[in-house]
Amino acid sequence: MGQYRYSLTHDVCGPGSIGVFKREFGQNAKVWDPTKIVIIPDHYIFTTDKLSNRNVDVLRDFAREQKLPYFYDVIDDPNGHWTFNPARGQLARQYGSRYQGVCHAALPRRGHARPGEVLFGTDSHTCMAGAFGEFATGIGNTDAGFILGTGKLLVKVPETMRFYLEGELPRGVMAKDVILHIIGDIGFDGATYRAMQWEGPGVKAMNIDDRMTIANMAIEAGGKNGIFPADEKTFAYVDGHIKANGTKNNYDPVELDKNQKFIFDRVYNLCELEPTVAMHPNPGNRALAKTLEYVKLNRAYIGSCTGGKASDFIAFAEVVNGKRVYIETYGVPATSEVVQELKETKISGNSVWDVLVDSGVQMTENASCAACLGGPQDTFGRLNAPLTCISATNRNFPGRMGSKESKVYLASPYTVAASALTGHVTDPREFIG
Ligand code: SF4
Repeated sequence: MGQYRYSLTHDVCGPGSIGVFKREFGQNAKVWDPTKIVIIPDHYIFTTDKLSNRNVDVLRDFAREQKLPYFYDVIDDPNGHWTFNPARGQLARQYGSRYQGVCHAALPRRGHARPGEVLFGTDSHTCMAGAFGEFATGIGNTDAGFILGTGKLLVKVPETMRFYLEGELPRGVMAKDVILHIIGDIGFDGATYRAMQWEGPGVKAMNIDDRMTIANMAIEAGGKNGIFPADEKTFAYVDGHIKANGTKNNYDPVELDKNQKFIFDRVYNLCELEPTVAMHPNPGNRALAKTLEYVKLNRAYIGSCTGGKASDFIAFAEVVNGKRVYIETYGVPATSEVVQELKETKISGNSVWDVLVDSGVQMTENASCAACLGGPQDTFGRLNAPLTCISATNRNFPGRMGSKESKVYLASPYTVAASALTGHVTDPREFIG
């Protein structure tokens, strides 16, 4: 599949991959194709941690040296150094005009996701780009170093599990509930080194954001990749973003093989799903939100590649509009573009951003991974104590969001919002008309 291969990296794994590339190919070596490398710093950005700041500088030096056109720097000065200024606080924007935010959310928006292609990224959630009908998978720094030098990687073709979705999502149920339900079914290792292929009328009815949410979490079941066959919605989205960004505008979508064999093939009726939660300590530890009212919470969090899209915040705002959150609640848009969208989109005459702030959500303009991956101690929203948090993110192994003693419950933006209002895990249908 896919004649066209490209690679993605960020501030955590980029410097290591560059180190492997230089060690193996030489200090003065050139990358195999500068136009096929996308670098998006996003993980440990808004922190005073000097080594994290330096990682961004390493990426900038490499992009300049290799003349990489798709480096989305934090700052505008190509010869500058990135430092975070804590005196300006965590909430106000501290980035330049090219900065994007979380790589997986930014990649398609910047016109780098196309059906039929192959994407290797130094991040396990690279599988999110499978929403666009491409083979997208996470790799390590060593593989990435060799890809920088050769553009090649030996990969075993995964067996395929088919998830055939019928029906429509009921009120209060989101794409996040679908993937949490299915990981609960197959287990957090249930798709290990397999492709998770999504088909059926339920998939056709889903918008691109929903498909991204689901594809993103293939890795939470151990999947090699998640894949949604490209359709007219995919083409409209991809073509629009290619045009807006002037990126490569030809691609060759792959058709479904009618004789394809599956190692697993199951039909799910979306109408039967209810708001679902993955309990501490893993994404497969499933329960219905309505059965977890006894779980008291200290913290709610909305953000990340899977849960920090504009549509996620709009869903959250629908629930909290005109109300006050009861527990500390942090909101981190996935990308700088999402920040803009939330300020421009209105609900009942107010911007979504204002609705969220007025309800007590601490919203930062500094789009990034933030506390999804814990990060340095001063990371916005990090669980620095043994807290119990409900989160719209994608992974809840112990220590993922900070303290190893904290407990993270994964849920949809609706469920996180409803739980933020009550202080315990809450079925959002109580709050949705
Ligand atoms: S938002 Fe979280 S899951 Fe997504 S790339 Fe960043 S750390 Fe990984």
